[in-house]
Amino acid sequence: MPTLAYSIRNSLYLNITNRCSNACSFCIKLNSSTGDENDLFLDTEPSFDEIMAAIAEFSDFEEVVFCGYGESLLRFDIVKQVAEAVKQKYCTRVRINTDGQANLVHGRNIIPELAGVVDCFSVSLNAPDAETYMRLCHSPFGAAAFIGVCDFIRLAAAEIPEVIASVVRVTSLDVEACKALALSLGASFRLRPYYQG
Ligand code: SF4
Repeated sequence: MPTLAYSIRNSLYLNITNRCSNACSFCIKLNSSTGDENDLFLDTEPSFDEIMAAIAEFSDFEEVVFCGYGESLLRFDIVKQVAEAVKQKYCTRVRINTDGQANLVHGRNIIPELAGVVDCFSVSLNAPDAETYMRLCHSPFGAAAFIGVCDFIRLAAAEIPEVIASVVRVTSLDVEACKALALSLGASFRLRPYYQG
């Protein structure tokens, strides 16, 4: 049975969609299989009630994280509804791990709608320039994607308490250039390991 929620240390992770606005060459989905304890391949996307019921099966978590095998902000209305309910019911920190393309997807700046509800965005910056980004992430937004991600990080840093820009350690990536860009956009920086399955 697909996993909607799973805990790692003090964080509770939510897996609410397998859809994504990117097709990254290093995507963990492409290197994973079903049958694990946490099977994150969904048959259908869970409703608000199903997500809240999955959360209620856990206790003692200090943070709820929208993560999983997809881009949660493709389901913006559900993310906002669940984040608000989590804040109200559990008073925990809320983090969204995202590819940073939500403003391109939805055609507006969605960040102000999450201010006061979301404590942290962890944004996949993935590259120091548009060319590298396209080579790694294959975004349907083309050249606009990288600019959109940088804009998202900059806008988020102005409204959300914590913004982390991350990259996956892949061969030939200029990590120092990525870090410099992340800091210039107002975010902190995180280097993530490459998962090879
Ligand atoms: S943004 Fe994340 S979930 Fe989407 S394709 Fe890239 S690595 Fe996979």
